[in-house]
Amino acid sequence: MLDKEIIEKMLKVANEAEDNAFIFKSNHSFGAAVLTDDGEIYGGCNVDGVISGMGTCAESSALNHAVVHGKYNIKAILVVDEKEFIFPCGTCLQYLVQFYQTTNKEIEVISAKQSGEYQSKLLHELLPEAYHSVTFDQKLKSFINK
Ligand SMILES: [Zn+2]
Repeated sequence: MLDKEIIEKMLKVANEAEDNAFIFKSNHSFGAAVLTDDGEIYGGCNVDGVISGMGTCAESSALNHAVVHGKYNIKAILVVDEKEFIFPCGTCLQYLVQFYQTTNKEIEVISAKQSGEYQSKLLHELLPEAYHSVTFDQKLKSFINK
């Protein structure tokens, strides 16, 4: 499990990202941060969509932000809410699984409150029967040192 110092850095990035949430429908902003295996942190926020299902969660947004920077090996993800402990939705957990498949190293999933309190779980604790693609496994592994 990650130490408190790095979690505090992730929380800061997630809080900053949350400030930029593009929300006009959900009325609830979320921030997230992804830690890559080289120690970089990328933030994400939720983006509403005018058509149902078109929006993006903060967690997926943070993952995409890491990809934009050429980072695919994800060590941890943090999601922050003002008052409650929340964990990523099922879609985001399954999205995380394809990043897990690049390294086969368990990903830590942290739920934090803005106050700094947090809970930590592992990806496969939250999604024990996750779908692991056999078809794309080798291609996903090709991103390990890319
Ligand atoms: Zn989600």
